[in-house]
Amino acid sequence: MELVTEALNGNRYALARLISRVEDGGADARVSLAALYPHTGQAHIVGVTGAPGTGKSTLVNELTKSLRSQGTTVGVVAVDPSSPFTGGALLGDRVRMRDLAGDPGVFIRSMATRGSLGGLARATADVVKVLDAAGFAVVLVETVGAGQAEVDIARTAHTTIVIEAPGLGDEVQALKAGLMEIADVLVVNKADRPGAAQTARALEMVINRNAVHGTDNNVWRPPILKTIALDGSGIPEVLAAVAAHREYLRTGGAWVERERIRIETELRNVLQQELLDRLLARVGEEQIQAWVARIVAREVDVYTVVQAILGA
Ligand code: GDP
Repeated sequence: MELVTEALNGNRYALARLISRVEDGGADARVSLAALYPHTGQAHIVGVTGAPGTGKSTLVNELTKSLRSQGTTVGVVAVDPSSPFTGGALLGDRVRMRDLAGDPGVFIRSMATRGSLGGLARATADVVKVLDAAGFAVVLVETVGAGQAEVDIARTAHTTIVIEAPGLGDEVQALKAGLMEIADVLVVNKADRPGAAQTARALEMVINRNAVHGTDNNVWRPPILKTIALDGSGIPEVLAAVAAHREYLRTGGAWVERERIRIETELRNVLQQELLDRLLARVGEEQIQAWVARIVAREVDVYTVVQAILGA
C-alpha cells in the first residue's frame, strides 16, 4: 500500500515498481489497483495504432514532445505483442525516446507479450490506470494495429489515432486490419514520400462512405491529417484534432458513454478470466487431459463434457 502512496506522490522508482507489480497480476496487483482506482478517470487516454513501419514510435515521440512543450504531462505505454522482451527491458532500447529521458513530466513504459494476448490487453489496461492515477494528463497507448487483440487494446482509449503511410505495399493498411471503424483521427504519416496524397484520398473515400460517429446534431467526422513525423510537421494539427475530439466527447455526453462501454467490457473480460481460472484450478489439469482423450476417442463430445464439468 505504501508503494501506491509513494507512486501517486510522484516517486518514479515507486511508480516503476508499482507498474511491474500490476503487470504481474495476482493478489498484490489487485490490492494495489483497488487502492489507486479512486484516483483514476482523469487522464485522456489516446490510442495510437497502425501497421508496422507507418511511423508510430516516431509520431508518439513527437506528440509527447509537443504536449510537453504545452506543459501537459504524458504517460506512454508502448505495446509490442511480438517482442520477446519483458516490460522495462525495452525502455533503454527506445533510442528515439532518449530526448525525453530525465523529464519528470513523462513516463514511458514498454510492454511485451506475457503469456496470451488477452493477458497483454488486461495488463495494458491496468498500467494505463496506474499512469492515470499518478496524474499524467494524457496517456498515449501505442499498439501495432495487426489483429483483433490489438484492436481491442486500441478500443480501451477515449480517442484513437490510426496511422497510415504511403509505400508500404498494401494501399490502405487500416482497412485491412479493420482499424477504420475505431479511428477518431486519421494520420497519413510520411507525407514527404510519394503517394501520400493518394493514401489520404483513399481514406477519405472510406470516411465518406461510412465512418461518421454520433447523432445527427452532434457528429464526429474523423479528420485526415498529413504528418512528417521525422521533422514534426503536422504534429500541432494532430494534437488540435485530439483535443477537439475530447471536447466533442465531453460536450456531447459521449465521454460518459465510452467510459461505460470501456468499463462494461473490462468487467466482462475480467469476470470471464477469473471464472475460467477458478474452474480450471478446481477441475485440475489431469482431469482436463482425461476428458480430451475421451473426446479424441469419440467416446463423448465436447458439449457433453462441458456440461459434465460445470455440473460437477
Ligand atoms: P513503427 O514501426 O510504426 O513504430 O514505425 P517507426 O516509428 O519505427 O518508423 C519506421 C521508419 O519510418 C523509421 O525508419 C522512421 O525513421 C521512418 N519514418 C517515420 N516517420 C517518417 C516520416 O514522416 N517520413 C519518412 N520519410 N520516414 C519516416
